[in-house]
Amino acid sequence: MPSKLTGKCFCGAVHYEVADEFIYAGNCHCSNCRRTTGSAFKPFAGIERGKFALTAGQDKLLIFGDESGHDAHCGRCGSLLYSLVRDGAYVHVAMGTLVDDPAIRPTAHIFVGSKAGWFTIADDLPQYEEHVVAAGSVDE
Ligand SMILES: [Zn+2]
Ligand SMILES: [Zn+2]
Repeated sequence: MPSKLTGKCFCGAVHYEVADEFIYAGNCHCSNCRRTTGSAFKPFAGIERGKFALTAGQDKLLIFGDESGHDAHCGRCGSLLYSLVRDGAYVHVAMGTLVDDPAIRPTAHIFVGSKAGWFTIADDLPQYEEHVVAAGSVDE
């Protein structure tokens, strides 16, 4: 059995479970990710939709978007928990909401072209102006 990770929102109304089998992870500096998190960037990890499941508070979700792509927040405390992406096939978990430590680590900074001027990247991870160009890798 592959191990499972749990995650939850700030207030605890929404809980989820996800397989520790993320395919990619990165730090997205685009303005949308900065605004939805209120942060300099959003660390996110991607996985097939079927390996992610809500375990509590499904009825409390605030969905911004539609069935082909959306951001899912807790409707009570507002935490951004995950985004449904790529025509609904993948989930990008907002890594800050994980309770357990995943095996994966972010491997790149993406959308550095729209990075906040007040934030300086101080690690050695590769930086991309927009998406990572190679197919099958980080794609926010
Ligand atoms: Zn909440
Ligand atoms: Zn982004």
